[in-house]
Amino acid sequence: MSNIEQTLSIIKPDAVERNLIDEIKKIFKENNFHIKNSKKIHLTKDEAAEFYKVHQSKPFYSDLCSYLASGPIVVMILEGKNAVMANRKLMGATNPKDAEENTIRKLYGISIDKNSIHGSDSLENAKKEIDFFFKS
Ligand code: UDP
Ligand code: MG
Repeated sequence: MSNIEQTLSIIKPDAVERNLIDEIKKIFKENNFHIKNSKKIHLTKDEAAEFYKVHQSKPFYSDLCSYLASGPIVVMILEGKNAVMANRKLMGATNPKDAEENTIRKLYGISIDKNSIHGSDSLENAKKEIDFFFKS
């Protein structure tokens, strides 16, 4: 049975700023993800607010949207076996301090807000987030 999935990944501004794009892409490839599509963009705050609207009731929402719009990001479609959950595992916990060894957030995350990477948390959200950035 095929369980090849697609998920959305974002290299966030703190990681783009530190020139970590190639290193992070290498980690995805080494972990058997195929990078199906990739583009570097710079969101407006309104676009970031739309993307993160699931968090609109949270106290950190406004700062989160400002941060995502603070510089260029790289949005990618990752494809692979159980890609949604496999990517969440490879990313590590939201707070880099709690992330396991060899996860992207443990390696590169600076803080709970500047945690270097986004990844969809369910297959349903992956589809929505892929459409958000790549629907033609
Ligand atoms: N975030 C934050 N403060 C918090 C929790 C989250 O700034 O206390 C930011 C952080 O950048 C995180 C994003 O909000 O990646 C989305 O939060 P979520 O709980 O969905 O974490 P994720 O799915 O990214 O691990
Ligand atoms: Mg999330």
